[in-house]
Amino acid sequence: MKIAILAETVPGETRVAAIPETARKLVALGATVAVERGAGSRAGIADGEFEAAGAMVGSREEVLEQAHAILCVSGPEPSALEGAPPGALLIGGLDPLRRADAISAYASLGLQALAMEWMPRITRAQSMDILSSQSNLAGYKAVIDAAAVYGRAFPMMMTAAGTVSAARVFVMGVGVAGLQAIATARRLGAQVSATDVRSATREQIQSLGAKPIFVENVAGIEGEGQGGYATETSDEYRQAQADLVSGHIAKQDIVITTALIPGRPAPRLISDAQLASMRAGSVVVDLAADAGGNVEGSVAGEQVQRHAVSVIGAVNLARSLPADASALFSRNLYNFLAAVWDKEQGRPVLADEDEIVQAVRLTKDGAVVSDRLKG
Ligand code: NAD
Repeated sequence: MKIAILAETVPGETRVAAIPETARKLVALGATVAVERGAGSRAGIADGEFEAAGAMVGSREEVLEQAHAILCVSGPEPSALEGAPPGALLIGGLDPLRRADAISAYASLGLQALAMEWMPRITRAQSMDILSSQSNLAGYKAVIDAAAVYGRAFPMMMTAAGTVSAARVFVMGVGVAGLQAIATARRLGAQVSATDVRSATREQIQSLGAKPIFVENVAGIEGEGQGGYATETSDEYRQAQADLVSGHIAKQDIVITTALIPGRPAPRLISDAQLASMRAGSVVVDLAADAGGNVEGSVAGEQVQRHAVSVIGAVNLARSLPADASALFSRNLYNFLAAVWDKEQGRPVLADEDEIVQAVRLTKDGAVVSDRLKG
């Protein structure tokens, strides 16, 4: 069983799909691990560290030759996989909805493509969930980026020259990224408040020492919501939420938005008029910028000025923390492989009836087989 680790080719990608620790563990499972030369360089990992972990290092052609599984962070162009044996697994973040042509081409190459971002939100799969691991880091980095742009300090400081007041941070959307944003802003000494449509998040917000800001008179989403996901709310709820936010946001210095609804454009949470009500020098980070944006006027991948507010359209923040992001991502991949590893056969065995396999498998035997992709 040969496992190939590719050097990433997608522009802007800094991460790598294995670290020496996971390479060593894959070798311990009985695999031969082959790492493309330079694969870890942007994450601070030298080729020699992979070799010390028992991997061989070589050219792309050498690592793909006779590979049974290919690990990547971002799905490569199909042309970069020529030479991979038919039947090989391609495992990583493949962005299936936006890369339908590439997925068809993977099928034509005979690869079995597994999209790890489609890991179901079940307890058994938690340790394999690349969206969670990368969102955690994104939530942290959103606060750090906001602090870097904000022209004031976060913590309250009492100095001989007078007092600096604490920054007020409002987090909208309290999933994995939002929870980490709250925790990070609290550690920096900010006064933090947060909101979500799922009622279960109220206690989570409080447990982190932040103040919950919730629509009280109209029902949102009970408990955790289906699998932790939000659905669209009623018009009445949206209006009540907009009124609540208008009153609150004008008093905030930093707003971090992370709200997503699966299969839909991100909900619009902040209007241009609300931005205009904020104090000059305030900062808004829109973590949903790539999914259509929570903030009116935010531009994915850019920092723009709206009224007197800096609006950061954050995209792929985990890439700005390549060492930690690679470590978590590669452990997600290892945990998946270890879970499906058949010790007797010495290789991963994907059972058709396994709900994890059903969720992540895109292609098999030369065809696209994912219901989600076909439907
Ligand atoms: P997500 O990225 O889908 O959405 C981010 C947040 O935005 C969610 O909390 C959602 O409720 C919120 N939101 C949506 N519309 C909103 C609106 N109009 N206003 C305010 N907020 C809005 O969520 P996520 O970060 O992936 O996680 C959500 C939940 O799922 C969490 O409770 C998490 O613990 C759980 N989860 C479980 C697993 C697992 O068990 N394997 C894996 C991942 C996440």
